[in-house]
Amino acid sequence: MPILNSVYRHREFQDVATLTGYERAGGWNGLKATLEMTPDDALYAFHRSGLRGRGGAGFPMGRKASFLPKDSGKQTYVVCNADESEPGTFKDREIIEKNPFQLIEGVAIASYAVGCERAYIYIRGEYGMQAEVLAGAITACREAGRLGADAFGPGKPFDITLYRGAGAYICGEETALLESLEGKRGQPRLKPPFPAVAGLYGSPTLINNVETLAAVSPIVDRGLAWWKGLGCESTIGGAPSYGMKLMGVSGHVNRPGVFECDLGIPLKDLVEKHCLGMRGGKKFKGAIAGGVSMGVLGTDQYDAPMDFDIGRRCDVMGLGTACPTIFDEDTDMVAVARNIARFFKNESCGQCTPCREGAGWIYKLISRIERSDATTKDLDLLLEIAGSMGLSPGTTICGLADGNNWAIRTIVNKFRGEFEARVKPYAVPVSTIPLTVAR
Ligand code: SF4
Repeated sequence: MPILNSVYRHREFQDVATLTGYERAGGWNGLKATLEMTPDDALYAFHRSGLRGRGGAGFPMGRKASFLPKDSGKQTYVVCNADESEPGTFKDREIIEKNPFQLIEGVAIASYAVGCERAYIYIRGEYGMQAEVLAGAITACREAGRLGADAFGPGKPFDITLYRGAGAYICGEETALLESLEGKRGQPRLKPPFPAVAGLYGSPTLINNVETLAAVSPIVDRGLAWWKGLGCESTIGGAPSYGMKLMGVSGHVNRPGVFECDLGIPLKDLVEKHCLGMRGGKKFKGAIAGGVSMGVLGTDQYDAPMDFDIGRRCDVMGLGTACPTIFDEDTDMVAVARNIARFFKNESCGQCTPCREGAGWIYKLISRIERSDATTKDLDLLLEIAGSMGLSPGTTICGLADGNNWAIRTIVNKFRGEFEARVKPYAVPVSTIPLTVAR
């Protein structure tokens, strides 16, 4: 049954993974409409749509694109971030596998708007099959003249290069991605300058996520009124959360998977209606909000609206990728915390002391708590270390350390009883008690 108002064509039409099928489903109408505008008008359309980045940060796409200088005298690049490696996140994979031409069309539209003739799609190394699908789609577009010397009209070239990463989580951070794309070690760069000014090869670069770029074509094709009728306005004075969002749900639910939902859907509805409820009829205990870096929702936050205000409302960092991992009442949250801490310890690139050392200490402390080999003082120390890593920007080059802080701090604070039950009261060692001298 077709899904009304679907942003992603594979959810409404069959066979869009072939070029002819995509054309039959109205594919390329967005690019056609864009090519009739000036690049500035296209940029303004992005801006007015309020489209917010779907890769994690939620930054408005039109604003990001507007930061690119027009008079740099350098080549301008568009880079699609397909390095989808946040734990629990698997929504971009669906677009690449089932709807690669909508992504290509979105990259082309964004490229036209910012004056880019050569775009890149950086796909995570583990996505071998997806890279093949994308490579096949790019080849099909070249053969059909949709990419190549006259892609944007006679004498107006545009092409896309597909680049496979080598499996490092940190390459999802946009400046580490650029380093990797340039053939260097994938480590985040100091900012400023930001990629909009000095990105790929030191040139102005627009970097956006797969889902964000894929959304551009239907926005241009169906219009701003249609787009703004989807999703929700902010109820706490923030920017609106327009549009549909792919939400990938994993964990203790009956039907995990990727669902296309209006932004603002309560987490409970996502679980009960789309995922057919909690597995085994168990009770909801908590959830990773949208990628481990965003932090954890507590038992009393089952109704949390899945929109870009969730951070301010629910004491998590933000919506992230909107791919929650659901935990039932039997979940050991200390074990969850240890697992998350291990991930951050392994993925720190090691450039910054708070991240490199802090991630290791957090893992050691949580492991000791899990073994009931720690005291209340260790629990305080754990929160202190996490807090000291959460001071970025300022103490670390990228946000990974802050993500570690949010994940650990929220899980300890929202499930503190479970952590306290594993630790012993701290007793000052006898040897350190000062002797009182009798006078
Ligand atoms: Fe590397 Fe961590 Fe510093 Fe990011 S915060 S640059 S991952 S050490």
